[in-house]
Amino acid sequence: MSVAVRTEFSADSLAGPVQYVPGVGPRLAARLANLGIETVHDLLMHLPARYVDCRIVDATGRVAVGPHRTVVGVVRASGSAWMGRSRRKIFEALIDDGSGVVSAKWFHFRESYLAAQLPIGARVRLTGDVTAFGNTAQFIHPDVEAIDADDTATHAARILPIYPATEGVTQRMFGKIIAAAWEKYGARLQSCLPSALASAHGLWPLADAVHAVHCPELTANVAALNARDTPAHRTLIFDEIFLLEVGLALRRAATQQERGAAVCWDAQAARDFAHALPFTLTAAQERVLHEIAIDVQRGVPMRRLVQGDVGSGKTAVAAATAVQLIRAGYQVAIMAPTEILALQHFRTMLPWLSALNISHELLTGTTRASARREILAALQDHRVHCAIGTHALLEGDVQFAKLGLVIIDEQHRFGVAQRLQLQTKATLAPHLLVLTATPIPRTLAMTAYGDLDISCIDELPAGRLPVLTKWYTDAMREKLLVGMRRELERGRQVYVVYPLVEESEKVDLKNATAMAQELAVQFEPNFRVAVLHGRMKGDEKEATMQAFKRGEIHILATTSVVEVGVDVQNATVMVIEHADRFGLSQLHQLRGRVGRGAHQSYCILVAARHVSDDARQRLSIMVETTDGFRIAEEDLKIRGPGEILGTRQSGLPELRIARLVEDSAMIAQARQAAFALIEGDPQLASHPTVYTAVRARWGATLQLGD
Ligand code: ADP
Ligand code: MG
Repeated sequence: MSVAVRTEFSADSLAGPVQYVPGVGPRLAARLANLGIETVHDLLMHLPARYVDCRIVDATGRVAVGPHRTVVGVVRASGSAWMGRSRRKIFEALIDDGSGVVSAKWFHFRESYLAAQLPIGARVRLTGDVTAFGNTAQFIHPDVEAIDADDTATHAARILPIYPATEGVTQRMFGKIIAAAWEKYGARLQSCLPSALASAHGLWPLADAVHAVHCPELTANVAALNARDTPAHRTLIFDEIFLLEVGLALRRAATQQERGAAVCWDAQAARDFAHALPFTLTAAQERVLHEIAIDVQRGVPMRRLVQGDVGSGKTAVAAATAVQLIRAGYQVAIMAPTEILALQHFRTMLPWLSALNISHELLTGTTRASARREILAALQDHRVHCAIGTHALLEGDVQFAKLGLVIIDEQHRFGVAQRLQLQTKATLAPHLLVLTATPIPRTLAMTAYGDLDISCIDELPAGRLPVLTKWYTDAMREKLLVGMRRELERGRQVYVVYPLVEESEKVDLKNATAMAQELAVQFEPNFRVAVLHGRMKGDEKEATMQAFKRGEIHILATTSVVEVGVDVQNATVMVIEHADRFGLSQLHQLRGRVGRGAHQSYCILVAARHVSDDARQRLSIMVETTDGFRIAEEDLKIRGPGEILGTRQSGLPELRIARLVEDSAMIAQARQAAFALIEGDPQLASHPTVYTAVRARWGATLQLGD
């Protein structure tokens, strides 16, 4: 490994390992690696999470009450004690600069950490909020920085950058190694941004910007620094996003060069399909189909994302599109994230496709070997028109004779790489239709799915009543059971969902099973209870799901396997146990399992009265709104985009600096600039530095090819 590194990078390359930075030994390098800092460049781009104003230093004996105060002094005493009637443990330190002591207190702390930071006799700087305590003032949870007696730099009044904390790397170490890295490598930081663009957007030279974010000028505005609203921050954000957007623009341009099946929308086939449906398409469904029709007739592969809230009827749109491609002589692959969902699509589409004499097969991980062989052969010689399945469709030996369209349901479960894998199975690039119920906010869609066009099914089928959502505490269990019984007696069905506990499938299974038994005690023999969980075999799952669909099972006790896509219109109650343990979009997905028919539906979130602030926020939003877009926005605020889409799974690009929500305005600007650049110079022939940079950074992720 180290040999490869040495041959690949010269010692002064930014791409070299972080260990090349003076002061970074193997142990520190290992700790930095935990933060994702592997190269010199990574280190320089590791930005402070916030800034603390230490320009005015108070005397320890006369600290004023207020926010952001700073003192410098010697630790006279430190340690923890159990305090007051609450028997709460508190850590306290007394700091003195000769003018009198000031106390600092911590109520949440790791003792070993604070003890190491505040040994008696050490010189430290405290920065933080000062509150009144009796008639004295005290720091509450201040930042602590050790100060060397011989290091005058750290004594100086300044704006202190605070880096995201990590085990074994102190703020001071960050300060030192970043300064060392900048000394040695700073001059090599070059933006690939065309200079006209840089000046049009008021951006700085990259090296200056990096310096300024790590060592702000004494005159800087701390609020602006914390809002990342400085020319230096804007430079780094723009720089990062621009390169990504250039990559996305290239990807898109490459797609436009490919050839796809040119299919004219067949009005007769559309009518035949409409007759096979048990309902009339909504205006929104029709509109999206119209957008798809325009795409597929161009002879260029379609890349379209269809967003539609849970229950908006994405399946019918997918099937209508499949029918068109198949009538034009192509094959279609429909991929779902779970076996249950693949099976459900298969069942749902069976009458629709059969009515049009379209042969289709189900292919999942549990398809028996002999059946699988049959299906593969039939796909290869075009006896089967439509393959519906799971990841199993991606396996190497699955070959289509004439694949014209790939449909991917619930995209956020699949990565970009997988998306592309299926596409390579044909000589013509197949059209791609991606369906998602996660309403992806605009900025996120622009970056994560920057190479896709977006359609929205922004209307639910008529007659749907919004699901009534309630938050029940454990004490309200009696009321819950009464409510469930009432709905069951009306002939409706109920889901009861239990969270995955610590992702352990064994525990998970025990909980769902135990819950089913408890429910059976309450409701059997009048009503039938069954359990459904991820550990069950494919055909067991199928049998249970089908029995529930037929109404033979009245209560389905389940883990979150029902989360995505499951469609049983007669189910009107969704009980979510330990609702506080679910994420917001997961709760929304689960709730989307009910309210799919004409009956009033209910979603009961069961959670303790006292839950974490985050959980309280999530549950309140759920009670307040059923609007998927609002929920997605809130979720994005609470969790950040990486988690929503699952950065690695979703193919959401890993960004170091830019934040998709806060920086949306800059993202839009950078995107526009990037797409304009590619429009004028599709091969980047006259922008070789941009070309090299984008390939190095995004070539693999975006599969930019040659
Ligand atoms: P999702 O968008 O969540 O995938 P589905 O495609 O599963 O939604 O559709 C949800 C339910 O609504 C299904 O039972 C489906 O049959 C029904 N449905 C879809 N489109 C319509 C429509 N235009 N009118 C009435 N019901 C519809
Ligand atoms: Mg669906």
